[in-house]
Amino acid sequence: MINDLKTIMKIQGVSSREGKIGAKLAELIKPYTDEVSTDALGNVVALKRGTAKNKKKIMFCAHMDEIGFVVTFIQDNGIVRVTPVGGINYVAAAFNRVVFENGASGIMFPEDKTEPKDYRPDKFYIDLGVKTKRDAERKVKIGETCALVSGMTKLAGNKYSGRPFDDRIGCYVLLETAKELKKVKDDVYFVFSVQEEVGCRGSHAASFNVRPDIGIAVDVTPSGDVVNAATNPTVKLGDGAAIKVKDSSVMCDQKLVFDLVDLAKENKIPYQMEVLTYGGTDTCSMQTVAGGSRAVCISVPTRFCHSNNEVIDMTDVDACVKLAVAACGAEL
Ligand SMILES: [Zn+2]
Repeated sequence: MINDLKTIMKIQGVSSREGKIGAKLAELIKPYTDEVSTDALGNVVALKRGTAKNKKKIMFCAHMDEIGFVVTFIQDNGIVRVTPVGGINYVAAAFNRVVFENGASGIMFPEDKTEPKDYRPDKFYIDLGVKTKRDAERKVKIGETCALVSGMTKLAGNKYSGRPFDDRIGCYVLLETAKELKKVKDDVYFVFSVQEEVGCRGSHAASFNVRPDIGIAVDVTPSGDVVNAATNPTVKLGDGAAIKVKDSSVMCDQKLVFDLVDLAKENKIPYQMEVLTYGGTDTCSMQTVAGGSRAVCISVPTRFCHSNNEVIDMTDVDACVKLAVAACGAEL
C-alpha cells in the first residue's frame, strides 16, 4: 500500500508534463475499475460502473501535477534562468536541488545578499555545475521543466515528510478508495487531473466530459497547528479528514458538507471542519463547469504546503479513504 505512495511520489509531473505520472496512476487503478482512459489534456479518467437503475455520477478528482519551473534562458556562463509554474515558495526553493525532466540536477539559488523578504522569481538562478552555455545546453533545454527533488521520509509515528504530497496524497486516496469499493450503486469516476496548480485547467475539461451529479475533490489543506499559524486554525495534523466548507475558489454544497459530517459520525471516522480563507482546488471546476454539480472536498491536513518537506499523517489519509468509501455507499 505505502509502496504505491512511494512510487507515485517519485515520478515528476510539473503542470502540463503529467505523461509519466498519468501512465503510472492509470496502471495502478486499472485492476479496480471497469474502464480507464486519458483525454486530450492528459487527465486520467477511471470509471467503476454502478448497478442501480437510477444511478448518479460521482466524480472524485485529485490533481497529479505539481508546482515547478520552466527554463526560460541560459546565460553565457551556463547559469540557467527559470520562470515559476504554480505558487512557488522561494524561501523553500532557495539552495535546494531541482531535477529536470531528463534527470539532470541543479541547485536553485538567489542572487548574492538577497534577503528572503526580497525573494522574487527574477532573483533566482540554477547552477548545473557547468562553466559554459554550451555545456548547460547539453543538460537542459529552453522550455524544459524542473521541480524540487521529490520523495518521502518517515518521521515519528504515522507522519511522513516530503514532496509533492500536494497532491499525490490525494491521488493515493483515490487509489485506495477504488481498491476498497466492491459493488457500487452509482457510477464512480476517479479523475487524476492535470494543470491544477496553474488554475484547475484539467478538471475543467474532465468535468465537462464526465458531467458529474456529485463532485468530490481530494486535495491537501494547510494544517493550522504550526507555530503562529495565520490560517486554518481548526485543522490539525492527525485529527482526521478535513471536510471543506470553503476556499477562495468555492463555497461547497452545504448538504454534501453536512452529509459527510454525518457519515463520519456514523462510521466513527475522525474528521474536522475546514474553512480556508485562500487557495483553490478542483472542487470549483466540478461545481461550475457545464450544467454544474453539487461539489465538496475532502482535504488531507498538510504542514508546510508547497515546500520541499510537506508533512502529512497517514492516520488522516486513512480517514479520508474511509470517508470517500462511505460517500460512495450513501444517498447523497
Ligand atoms: Zn493541491
